Order: sequence, then C-alpha cells, then structure tokens
Amino acid sequence: MDIRGRLIPSDQVKVSLGSNERRYPAVTWRCQRCGGLPTRGPCTCGKRCYYCRHCLIFGKLRTCDMLVTDARPLDSVLPSRHEALALTPDQQRIATAIERTIEQQGRLLVHAVCGAGKTPMLFPGIETALRLKKRVLITTPRADVVRELTLHVKRAFLDARIVSLFGGSEERLQLGDITISTTHQLIHYRACFDVVFIDEVDAFPYSTDRTLHRYVKRVMCRSASLILLSATPSFRNKRLPTVRLMRRYHGFPLPVPQLHFSYTPVHLIEWLHSHADKPRLVFVPTVAVLALWQERLEQAGLTAETVHAADPDRIVKVERFRTTATILLTTTILERGVTFSNVQVAVVDADVSFTAAALIQISGRVGRDAAFPSGEVIFFANDRSNALYEAIADIQRANREGFR
Ligand SMILES: [Zn+2]
Ligand SMILES: [Zn+2]
Repeated sequence: MDIRGRLIPSDQVKVSLGSNERRYPAVTWRCQRCGGLPTRGPCTCGKRCYYCRHCLIFGKLRTCDMLVTDARPLDSVLPSRHEALALTPDQQRIATAIERTIEQQGRLLVHAVCGAGKTPMLFPGIETALRLKKRVLITTPRADVVRELTLHVKRAFLDARIVSLFGGSEERLQLGDITISTTHQLIHYRACFDVVFIDEVDAFPYSTDRTLHRYVKRVMCRSASLILLSATPSFRNKRLPTVRLMRRYHGFPLPVPQLHFSYTPVHLIEWLHSHADKPRLVFVPTVAVLALWQERLEQAGLTAETVHAADPDRIVKVERFRTTATILLTTTILERGVTFSNVQVAVVDADVSFTAAALIQISGRVGRDAAFPSGEVIFFANDRSNALYEAIADIQRANREGFR
C-alpha cells in the first residue's frame, strides 16, 4: 500500500513504513483531515476525546487517533502523448494559453460557454505537464462529471496512468499521473499535484462550500499551476488572467431562452406536445414538486419520468432518456455535465430559486450535438426575477461576442 502524498488514519495502514512514516494527531484544535471544528464526547479509549462530526462519512476521527503518511518522494511522472485532436482555431487558442500557464506555473481562468468543447482543449496542456514530469489533477464537485471526464481522458491518453476517484470508486486512495477526482475525495491527499484543473468552478457545491476550496489548496504543490474552467465565472474568479471562448465547437450560436410569463400547466403541456418526437427535459425548482408535475402531465396523457440527486435509479433513468424521445422531469441535478442529442428544455417556476448561473447552464443543455445544433429553451415564470434577465442577457452577450 502506497500512501505517499496521502494522509490517512493509522488503522487503515496495513504495512510497516519504518523510518519513512510520519504520524500526526488526527484531531487537535481542529480536525486535521477536513479542517472542521471538533466536538467533545465519551470515547472508546476511556477518556473524553474530541472527535470530528464533519467528516464522519470517511470514518470517525478522535483526539486519540493518528494520521499517517509516507515521507518518501513520489514516483516520477511518465510522459504520455494524446491521440490526434481536431481543435477549432478558437479551441487551439485556449489550449495554447493553458499550455503556457502550465509552463510558467501560473494561474488561468478559462471562461467558455456551455458546449464550447472544453475537455479536448485540456489535452495539449496535460501532455505538456506530463512531459515536464508534473502530476495532473482534474477535479470537479460532481461524480457524474468525473465519470464522463474519465472516459474522455482515457480515450485520449491510452498509455498514461489514470486514476478516477469518486464515492465508491475502486481506485480509492490511489494516485495517477493523471488523477480525475471529485473535490470531496481530495480530503485524503496532500501536496501531490503540480497542475490542477478545476472544472465547473462556479457550480454548486464548490461555489458555496469553503471546505472544498481548502481541500484543493492542500493537494497543490508549492508552485502548482491552477486552471479554472467555468461557463459562469463569479466575480471573485474574474480577477485571474482570463481567456474567453464564446463560441460553441460546432460554430452555431447558443440557443436564447424564451420567456413565458403568467403560465398555467396547460402552457407547459402544449409546449411538450409541440416537441412530441424529441427528448424533453423539464426542470423544476425542488424535489418536492416532482411528483406533482408528474401527476399533472399524466392527467394530460403524457408519460414522464422523474429524477433527482438522491434517486437510486438516477444513472439508469438518465441512460434510458438518452435513447428515447420521452419527457424527464428533473431538479438542477441535470443542469450540467450531461449531453442529450436534440433535447428541448423547459424550466417551470423559473423565477423561483434558480440562479442566473443555473439558468445559463440549463440553457446550455440544448443544441450541444453538432447534428442538432439548435433547439428550444423556454422559461415558464409567474413573476420577474433578476436571475431570468441576467441569464438571458449573458447568453445574448456571449452570442454577440462569439460572432463578431
Ligand atoms: Zn474532520
Ligand atoms: Zn479517545
């Protein structure tokens, strides 16, 4: 078991590391694994120990526990070349900026619209990093996105050592030359990556959870390059040197959402009928109203499936939706990281609880496939919200800039 670059509870270490072992108290004034503030309680050791409630999901850590690492240096990174790429001139421009950032150990924000084809733009940079013996991390908050990215990267770098980390991953605690990980899984790693890509940096939960920022900071080596990818950059990230790509890879503009005010379920049903032969995604604001909308559609003779984050059949349902022209009612769980060919999108109660960033991402689901580069996005709302207008203005601005 290799635990170089990792910090894990001593009871999980099955081998003797001798003089290379470094041990640290697991809980001091704060938890040394997640950084959370500990709670005091009776302990199996007989004393009243402090323990951490914040990272219980990874196993309980108490004052009387130790965290262990192996102090030896990591193995050298092996070079690997990516398969041939067909990048558009715009994508090439971004790819070059990323390569330069890696060579100069700098920081960069890549502001690219939904459907710009972000993943292949990373490959020249990754190749450069591996050639310079730099260990690469691509991290994103969502496990679905990790799985999808892993497929792409494995297809591009056939002989690289690639590790994919998410809850339930078989490669748990491993370290690759290219590691693709949910941000949560980084909790076990320390100072081991020289190049860090954060995908969907302005996506929930990364945008609001400071703990995740700490995880990323801790896994970066001292002079690591940091490349942020975002379709909806926050004010904070816009301070970084920025490259922008406002045009989709297939060259067609982003679909601009239509607004439908003071709607009733009948309007949605009519809209669904008007796209009867295509897959239709209907976004609702909360899990609680999924069943209600399903019932309404059923009464109108439309069959619809529902999906949300905690749905155990989520992956199966999403796969089924991919291949059938049906209706899928969903929460914002499908707002990003998924591509459905020829999908049409409606948002009900779009004025309620959707942020501008979420609405932009949702609109970005439409027309991603070069075979069906256009499609409809419609926002049903009963009131006006800033987010609605911000999202539409942002999409129109991107189209203007992309087609100047
Ligand atoms: Zn903790
Ligand atoms: Zn104890």
